[in-house]
Amino acid sequence: MSGPAPRLVLATHNQGKVRELRELLRGQVPGLDVDTQVVDAGAVDAPDVAETGLTFAENSLLKARAVAEATGLLAIADDSGLAVEVLHGAPGIFSARWAGRHGDDQANLDLLLAQLQDIPDEHRGAAFVCAAALAAPHGDATVREGRLEGRLLREPRGAGGFGYDPVLLPVGETRSCAELSPAEKNAISHRGQAFRALLPEITAALAG
Ligand code: IMP
Repeated sequence: MSGPAPRLVLATHNQGKVRELRELLRGQVPGLDVDTQVVDAGAVDAPDVAETGLTFAENSLLKARAVAEATGLLAIADDSGLAVEVLHGAPGIFSARWAGRHGDDQANLDLLLAQLQDIPDEHRGAAFVCAAALAAPHGDATVREGRLEGRLLREPRGAGGFGYDPVLLPVGETRSCAELSPAEKNAISHRGQAFRALLPEITAALAG
């Protein structure tokens, strides 16, 4: 690879997340050029890590640690999902594979809406949850969490975002997450909260 050496790996192959993470980091870490020094897992042949943990935090740490070790670079990873009240927190860590096939957003969303068909509006509370982890090649690691509370719609709305965005109406909003601009979503999202909380650690790790 030519050009400036990468300094930070985003330990994900999900391009929806890669876009959001780049925007969250842009201009926030002194001395870090997001366009040239931040790479995603595919660009550095980072391993695809099995999510064997029982919580979002465990899974984010597993991914960040494995990618930092494999690449010799600082790595950040998240694990996130949708926690539905009436389903006692499911799909939770199974959000990406709820309908059986990993990453089939449309099938996951269709199955969830079908499952909740008879659930009235007052019992459709749900939240996006995110754990964001930072790991260094020598083993240091840390994790932060964020949460976006809302309610599940009956029909998908909007064309932005990814995953369950078209069916989550954040508290105090009239638009679904898929109707918000990327900047509006980042400002309130579970991922935005978790990664903003991690920024001081990222800054310190890159300076150290
Ligand atoms: P992960 O890649 O294991 O973290 O899986 C995350 C899954 O949770 C995604 O495939 C989506 O289905 C869902 N998810 C996480 N964050 C979001 C979000 O910001 N919007 C919509 N769906 C999300």
